[in-house]
Amino acid sequence: MAKVKIATDWLQICSGCEMSLLDIDERIVELVKHVQFTSSPITDLKHPPKDGVEVGVLSGGVGNTHQEEVAKEMRERCKILVALGDCAVFGGINTMRNFFDKEELLRRGYVETESTDEGGAVPRSDELAKLLDREMALNEVVKVDVHVPGCPPPADAIWFALTELLAGRIPVLTGDNLTYE
Ligand code: SF4
Repeated sequence: MAKVKIATDWLQICSGCEMSLLDIDERIVELVKHVQFTSSPITDLKHPPKDGVEVGVLSGGVGNTHQEEVAKEMRERCKILVALGDCAVFGGINTMRNFFDKEELLRRGYVETESTDEGGAVPRSDELAKLLDREMALNEVVKVDVHVPGCPPPADAIWFALTELLAGRIPVLTGDNLTYE
């Protein structure tokens, strides 16, 4: 039987969600018998294949133009999109910046921090992603099919979600698998 193709990527994150995925430990051996990870942020292949995958998994919120592009590309190329972790599900801790003006934030980050050398400046190159006006949850940018909350989601919740998807079901998280932290 052909393996189920899964593509993963991350947006505005601390990468804790991916660490939680690795925390499924030896179950990952069982998982790779049934799935093929086509692309991920920690492999050379970064983009989901053009001919698509069954499942796309995105962690992190959407805070800049690059992350918006990554989210839209994943949505176009996957049948089922999973938002992994609080940052993807509702914006998470990154939404704290939504209380401030964007220019004020950039100035604080690049010019005014105590550790910034004199002469620090906000980078303005056209080649750099632009900060969006506010941090957004993934479903504010693209349609999401499955939400797996938690900061990070417990490894058991990720395992449950993936195995339900492999069984052809949309996972319904309950009990200890459903955490908001
Ligand atoms: S949900 Fe928590 S663990 Fe996951 S990327 Fe956001 S801050 Fe990190």
